[in-house]
Amino acid sequence: MEEGLSISMKVRRLFDRQLAGWPQAGDNYRALAGVETREERIGGFPVKIQFNPARIVSSAAKVDTKSIKERKCFLCEENRPAVQEGIDYEGEAGNYTILVNPFPIFPRHLTIPDKSHIKQQIRGRYGDMLDLARLLDEYVLFYNGPRCGASAPDHMHFQAGNKGFLPMEMMAESLEKELLAREGEAELFAVGTYARGVFLIESSSREDAEKLFEGVYSVLPVKEGEWEPMLNILTWCVNAEGARWYTVIFIRDKHRPACYFAQGEENILLSPASVDLGGVFITPLEKDFRKVDVARLKDILDEIAPPAEEIGRIKAALKRGSL
Ligand SMILES: [Zn+2]
Repeated sequence: MEEGLSISMKVRRLFDRQLAGWPQAGDNYRALAGVETREERIGGFPVKIQFNPARIVSSAAKVDTKSIKERKCFLCEENRPAVQEGIDYEGEAGNYTILVNPFPIFPRHLTIPDKSHIKQQIRGRYGDMLDLARLLDEYVLFYNGPRCGASAPDHMHFQAGNKGFLPMEMMAESLEKELLAREGEAELFAVGTYARGVFLIESSSREDAEKLFEGVYSVLPVKEGEWEPMLNILTWCVNAEGARWYTVIFIRDKHRPACYFAQGEENILLSPASVDLGGVFITPLEKDFRKVDVARLKDILDEIAPPAEEIGRIKAALKRGSL
């Protein structure tokens, strides 16, 4: 009987069942244990490069409007494989299903779609993300904006990966940071380590964190033809003495770097999303795994972030009147 079990316990049991009874998932998780990983440092920040062939489905996903319209949505229940089971979760802004992601990056990797086919948008759902992070406190929750690495921009979803894997989560306490704003029990910082356009919210209150998040969201530009600012989000909760949430927001200016589209030698199939920005860069192709070095990663991070003047403007807007 599953009734009465915590969501966390249900998820552990779900993994056991799916890895044993769903060959594709079982194979991909076993293969993950053997993938090659390399460690590098970007300005003192430790990052990993993971050669993960199964992730080609996401990195090479066609996410233009026409391709999305022509494919069957893989997050809608009627199109999911019959063998894939889910755990229902009722949030404040939506109802979700917690699924085992069959194309893992993390040793434990979840996809958490809304039950209805509704476009990817964080506005109004950040509170749900915090609630999920609190319930799934062995995981880091993440959100990829519709043009920031989500392979289903037409279907609202979060993902989650086990803690102890992403450098950003493990380094959170030692980041160089500048306080920008305070709201009750929540603080907003600009992060100086690693990449441009990184912000951090630390909070022991869901409501206060939401207010600061809304503040950030509202000062970011929205590009023509799009429905939200370009961003990636990581959130996790430490439940030791009452809940304490960490949220890292990566502000973006570009979806895929030029090298993604380049022909020949210059081509690198790396489509940056939350996990990459969190410090684990995924290369589905071996040629790229061998070729990618610190200089190239720095170029990619530099290219996808807004220019320094734009970040300065955002910081000034967040500081104004809030400290
Ligand atoms: Zn769908």
